[in-house]
Amino acid sequence: MKTTEIMARLRAKYPGEVEYLQAVQEVLESVEDIYNRHPEFEKAKIVERMVEPDRVFSFRVTWVDDSGTVRTNTGWRVQFNSAIGPYKGGLRFHRSTSLSMLKFLGFEQTFKNALTTLPMGGAKGGADFDPKGKSEEEIMRFCQAFMTELWQCIGPDQDIPAGDVGVGGREIGYMYGMYKKLAREYNTGVLTGKGVNWGGSILRPQATGYGALYFTQNLLHRIGKDVKDHRIAISGFGNVAWGAAEKASQLGAKVIAISGPDGVCEIPDGITPEMTDYMLVMRASNRDKVEDMATKFPDRCKFTPGGKAWDIPCDIALPCAFQNELDEADARKLKENGCWCCCEVSNMGCRPEAIAFFQANGILFAPGKAVNAGGVATSGLEMTQNASHINWSGKEVDEKLHFIMNSIHESCVKYGLQPDGSVDYVKGANIAGFMKVAGAMLDQGIV
Ligand code: GLU
Repeated sequence: MKTTEIMARLRAKYPGEVEYLQAVQEVLESVEDIYNRHPEFEKAKIVERMVEPDRVFSFRVTWVDDSGTVRTNTGWRVQFNSAIGPYKGGLRFHRSTSLSMLKFLGFEQTFKNALTTLPMGGAKGGADFDPKGKSEEEIMRFCQAFMTELWQCIGPDQDIPAGDVGVGGREIGYMYGMYKKLAREYNTGVLTGKGVNWGGSILRPQATGYGALYFTQNLLHRIGKDVKDHRIAISGFGNVAWGAAEKASQLGAKVIAISGPDGVCEIPDGITPEMTDYMLVMRASNRDKVEDMATKFPDRCKFTPGGKAWDIPCDIALPCAFQNELDEADARKLKENGCWCCCEVSNMGCRPEAIAFFQANGILFAPGKAVNAGGVATSGLEMTQNASHINWSGKEVDEKLHFIMNSIHESCVKYGLQPDGSVDYVKGANIAGFMKVAGAMLDQGIV
C-alpha cells in the first residue's frame, strides 16, 4: 500500500472530514513500512477495510429547554471496528461535534483499545449539544432524549459507550436510567463510567489522568529521570486534567498551570489538593471558565485572559483538553521556555507540525492513544467486574491500571525502538495497535 494513494482516495471521497483524514494519515504513515512487509495484509486489503467504520448511526435528538423552547441536535454512534472485541468508546457532547470528529475518534479508539491488552473493539459517539450554560434539568432531558435513539444501537455484548468531553458520571447516570426504561435490560455492563454504588468501578473517574502519569513515569524512568520535582503545565480542567493534576502532585511534581477556553491560570507554587478538588466543581458548573480557579484561590493563582498553558515555563507539557490544541507555534514556545517532554493526554491533542517539531528538536513526545489509554482500560476493568458481579478495591484497580500502562509502554518501546536507542512513541503505538487489529481481521476472513 501507498499512504499517498490511499489518502488521495479518502480525500476525494470524504472532502472536508479534516480530523478523520488527519488521524488516518498519521497511522498509515507509521505503519506503511511494516505493512508492506506482509503481503497477506495487502491481499486481504486490510488497510482499505480498516479505515472505514463498520457502521454509522445518525439520529435527531429533540428536547425542550427550561424556557419551553423546542431544541434539535444531531446524535451519532460510529461503530468502527470489532476485530478484537465488542465496540467500545466514549460519547462526546460538544457544540463542534461532527461526523468527521467522531470518525477520527473511533478510528483512534480502535488502536488505543488494542494497546490496552483487553478485548475491546473501537467506537465513538456523541452529539453537537453544547453543555455550556445548561441547567441540571436541561442536561438530564438532553441525555434522556439522546438515549431514546442510542439504546437500540448498544448492548453489553455489542457496544459499550462511556464518557468523553462533556460526558461524565452525571450524564452516564441519566443515560443509564433511560436505557433501563426503554430496553428493560438491567445489565449494568452496557455503559461504563457509572457511579460506584450502581456498577461503576472505583478509580474510573481518575483513571485517564492517573494512567497518563504512570505512562509518563515509565517514559522518564527509561531515560533515568522522574516526574518528581519537575514543573508540569496542563491544559484543561475537566475530568482528565483533574486526574492528571492529582496524580502528578502525588508523585511529587509541581503543576504550575491549568487552562481553559477563557485563558490560563498560572500557579507558581503548584496546585494544592483543595484546588484539584475545585476543578470538579468547575466542571459541574457548566460555566467552562478556568478563571473561576483564580477567583476562588486569588493568593495562589494568576489568571491571564486569552493565555495558554504553553505560555508558562515548564519541564513537562500535558495537553488534556481537545484535539489540535497544541500547534507548532506552541511547540516552539514550549522549547524556548525549557520544556523537554510532552505527553499528549487528549486525543490527537497536538497538530502534526507540532509533533514533527518536538521530534526534530529532541523533545520527548508520546501520543494520546498510548498515554490516555488508562481511561478505556479501566472501563474494560469495569466491564469485567460487571460481568462477574464483583467489585475490586481501589488498590486492586490501581495495580491493574498500573500494570496495563507499563505494558502499553513496553509495546511502544518494542515497536518504536530506533537504531540510536531512542524510542519513536508515535510509530511504536501505531504499529503495536495496528498489528494486533490487522492480525485479528486476517484471522476472521473477509467480512
Ligand atoms: N473517552 C475515553 C477515551 O477517549 C474513554 C472511552 C471509554 O472508557 O470507553 O478513551
